Amino acid sequence: MVRRWGGDSATPVWEVNTWSVAAFNALPACECRIHNPVGDDAEWTDGDRKLMSDVTGYGWHNVGITPRPGQPSWVFSVGVWHTLRFPEVAMFGLQMTDMGMWINAIGEQVRAGRPPEPGVPVVGVIEGFPVELRPVHQSWYRDLLGYGMWFYRAWFPVLQIVWPDRNGLFPWDEGAGERCRRDQPVLWRPAEEQPLGQWRYGERGLDWLWPDAPDRKVFVSKRITDEGYALTYVVHDRDGDWQFLDGATVSKGDVVVAHLGDMASRFPTTNGLGGLPVGWHAWIGPLGDWIRAPIPR
Ligand SMILES: [Zn+2]
Repeated sequence: MVRRWGGDSATPVWEVNTWSVAAFNALPACECRIHNPVGDDAEWTDGDRKLMSDVTGYGWHNVGITPRPGQPSWVFSVGVWHTLRFPEVAMFGLQMTDMGMWINAIGEQVRAGRPPEPGVPVVGVIEGFPVELRPVHQSWYRDLLGYGMWFYRAWFPVLQIVWPDRNGLFPWDEGAGERCRRDQPVLWRPAEEQPLGQWRYGERGLDWLWPDAPDRKVFVSKRITDEGYALTYVVHDRDGDWQFLDGATVSKGDVVVAHLGDMASRFPTTNGLGGLPVGWHAWIGPLGDWIRAPIPR
């Protein structure tokens, strides 16, 4: 049976330190886009093609989410589960290049036949600082690991690499440093148990409020993706297409294609625009909230 997204109660939930390599091996075969091609290759973005070729050529692809004010960056692998039958790994709150390197170090340990064990600090990832791996609750996938959902199209296991503070204390240890608590989400607990904050916005972790699937292609101004311009104008075209813009005029060469799920995670201010009817647009008004109106004919 294919486990799709949408609250299937058969989806396994891993408790802290109860995961094991044997349990992963007992799971059904991966239903990813390589094992089960979807046939939508013609619609892939350059990013999609890069991800697929990295998984095929190297074993996995690391997705990096750049930091924003009030939110640290994070990096997660896509392909480790497909290639090595070991969970994907995700890391939060440090330099993106370092996190990518450390994720690769864990992948290489698995590839060399030395997979990490539950509850045993993993050495050799960060020099001098053993890290711990904890299973990620699926309530977080949509917000934080959307590209993995695009690739696997069904549930897949993920472990969070949790790093300690300078004294070797983990976020769950008494007296742990503020930064190590603040810059790492607690993904081994369900999202709904946790306060709203930098990793969780409104009910977004629980309900997908957009009328289209997270892998829906949308158009985004390059000024937003490449130059850090603010997202201030959203168009839900009469043909159903979504455009995420910065308010300045755009021509065809000014936009790139992205996934709706990716945009929703990167721009939590768009939460609530899912109800924008076809043929409407919305812009940020003087009070900072979205003003909605039909697109003039
Ligand atoms: Zn696969």
